[in-house]
Amino acid sequence: MRPIQATINLAAFRHNLAVARQHAPQSKVMAVIKANGYGHGLLNAAQGLADAEGFAVLSLSEALDLRHAGYEQNILLLEGLFDTDEALLANQHRLSLVIHQTEQVTILEALSLPHPFEVFVKINTGMNRLGFQPEQLTPLMQRLKQCANVGKITLMTHFANADEAAGIAQPLALFQQTVKDFSDYPISLANSASVLRYPESHGDWVRAGIMLYGATPFADTTASQLNLRPVMRFSSRIIAIQTLSQGDGLGYGHAFVADQAMRIGVVACGYADGYPRHAKNGTPIAVAGKSSRLIGRVSMDMLFVDLSHLPDCDLGDEVELWGDLVPVDAVAHSADTIGYELLCAVAARVPLQVSDRD
Ligand SMILES: *Cc1c(COP(=O)(O)O)cnc(C)c1O
Repeated sequence: MRPIQATINLAAFRHNLAVARQHAPQSKVMAVIKANGYGHGLLNAAQGLADAEGFAVLSLSEALDLRHAGYEQNILLLEGLFDTDEALLANQHRLSLVIHQTEQVTILEALSLPHPFEVFVKINTGMNRLGFQPEQLTPLMQRLKQCANVGKITLMTHFANADEAAGIAQPLALFQQTVKDFSDYPISLANSASVLRYPESHGDWVRAGIMLYGATPFADTTASQLNLRPVMRFSSRIIAIQTLSQGDGLGYGHAFVADQAMRIGVVACGYADGYPRHAKNGTPIAVAGKSSRLIGRVSMDMLFVDLSHLPDCDLGDEVELWGDLVPVDAVAHSADTIGYELLCAVAARVPLQVSDRD
């Protein structure tokens, strides 16, 4: 078998969920497990985070997979219904819906359903992606209260800059002003950055995503500084050794040229596995538990690691692409992206293994 795998540590999920609860002790946690659990496997994420009061996903099919696996907590569809056809199944399985535009209200008003939906009304406080404008809220609430298919209502927003210097002060003030006539309603505002930095945003439900996977939402603070543990360990093995003389080029385009004699390991992992092709020379990587660096251009199925300073490392040695020794955020930084993107991009051909080690 090709030696690549991603190992998902359920104990790390539980640890990170406990960290979220330490920050937001009064709030319920909606664990965001969209995008196949940020690449960790939807059901692996649900298993590790089973203690969360809710799960947030994008599609009806993800929600149904969770129900079929026996999860009974609140399941929120973050973009709500995409069309009328989804309403009956969503209702039957007691899914909660984000409502972010009038068309979704019209769908609900036209139906006759066995029981009312729990809904999360999304207000646009400056992200300008999804949600109602603040001045739409009062008439909207009138409509929702009159609709027999709408039950419990939570008011929500999503911040554009919770992880940035701008912070949340302005959109939070706008939200509070917007909902002041609806102060009896539960609220949900915080993503991971806001859970970690802004207690004033915690409300009834926090929507924690990236922190639960043990990666950082911030450019200036590492996951370990936040006491988060990586859940995924992405690993493979050395499948060939090459010796270079001074002046030899390596791999496609000879993007790396040896300035002295070197020993190189060829690793069974490439961009078709989800390793970023734009990772630069020098990106951290670990071989048999020791730090080294990526060199040369990442190809579809293989990449190169420098073994010049690791004479004991050899064919068959284990390589950590990211995990406990190499933070995914460090690899992401070196590829001009964020940990989120790398985790979500782990390819379907990479087998996911589950472990449970403290
Ligand atoms: C993805 C998402 C989250 C989680 O964001 P993180 O930064 O991963 O914590 C929260 N709320 C909404 C609406 C989202 O789409």
